[in-house]
Amino acid sequence: MLDEKLNFSTKLIHSSVKTNKPCIAVRAPLYDTTTFSFSDTQSFENAALNGDTPFYSRYGNNPNILATEEKLSVLDGTEDALLFSAGMAALSALFITYGKNGILCIGNVYGGTQFLLAHQLNSLGIQTNFIPYDQADYLDLFIAKNPGLIFFESPANPTLDILNIQDITRLAHENGSLVAMDNTFASAINQQPIGLGVDLCMQSATKYLGGHSDLTAGVITGKKSLLDAIRPWRTNLGQICSPATAHLLDRSLATLPLRINCHNENAMTIAKWLEHHPKITKVYYPGLPSFSGFETASRQMKGFGGMISIDIKGNEKDAIQFINCLKLITRAASLGGIESLVSQPARTSHRNLTPEERNQKGISDTLIRLSIGLENVHDIINDLAQALGQV
Ligand SMILES: *Cc1c(COP(=O)(O)O)cnc(C)c1O
Repeated sequence: MLDEKLNFSTKLIHSSVKTNKPCIAVRAPLYDTTTFSFSDTQSFENAALNGDTPFYSRYGNNPNILATEEKLSVLDGTEDALLFSAGMAALSALFITYGKNGILCIGNVYGGTQFLLAHQLNSLGIQTNFIPYDQADYLDLFIAKNPGLIFFESPANPTLDILNIQDITRLAHENGSLVAMDNTFASAINQQPIGLGVDLCMQSATKYLGGHSDLTAGVITGKKSLLDAIRPWRTNLGQICSPATAHLLDRSLATLPLRINCHNENAMTIAKWLEHHPKITKVYYPGLPSFSGFETASRQMKGFGGMISIDIKGNEKDAIQFINCLKLITRAASLGGIESLVSQPARTSHRNLTPEERNQKGISDTLIRLSIGLENVHDIINDLAQALGQV
């Protein structure tokens, strides 16, 4: 209880006992605080030495951050998890910690990751070699050059290419390389890279984990000893997410399995429908037997996810016309939310590449990427049908 004799300006500053008294709320409270108080110097000092005691939010020991990290490590079946302010924060800390002996990047990766590896990290002495997806069969030759870290996505953005996670991991480990993977497209529900041998698993929590297009965050899971080397970079580069973001993400994780099941079912139904449409020349979806990665995907994925790419018949104008005619499916960057989104990689995420570079990555001018949401599947199909009808 605050001393009655204090002035009101002082009383307005100090927390009410009512909000600080321990009680058990059904929905865990938000600890919207940068710092935590101690009854005496000894407990203050003890907390400073023990990383898991709530002490200072930037250090990552805010209760909302710790609780959400615990759920994320349970989800991936790992010892520990590190939460970040964005997927790119997670990746940059990962590469700075483990990229010193060279990075080998296999296949297509997210545009921001590509730029970071190809144009930014070399100024810090971190060098990356890139192998195109269609040369992944010669991986042993590249791995023999002793890269410290192997990095890839599967399914990869935006062509949904599938890489064999166990094969890559076995080769890398025989050579003493560490393996890190971006699992954003599949999400932890559909694919468990750590169980397949990967050392460090990253996800942009902005996408499926958050799932409602209302938060930006990232996560890395893996063995505690591996994460402990990344943690000081997160601390001193100031890459922690806010307690409010962690709290919102914790809320989202509750419905993650239900949401992913619905994304999987909707996308499978839509991919099958698109495959038979006369105005579509190719459907990129790991769950279609006609897709090149189907067999590997069936072995390493439990569900095929909500991302579909299509090649539309005709030229770039037809692709633009189709996208502009969509009424329900929203033209926007990002993916993995409850609402269906559409983008044209050659015009948006990959517009900075030369036509030759796009061609090498299999990104044509008529390629269209769909993030299938949780709307009623017939409403999504009706929207696709009416827009295709106007091409
Ligand atoms: C969005 C995305 C990222 C980057 O995540 P942010 O949260 O936007 O920083 C990295 N990898 C993939 C595959 C993504 O889709």
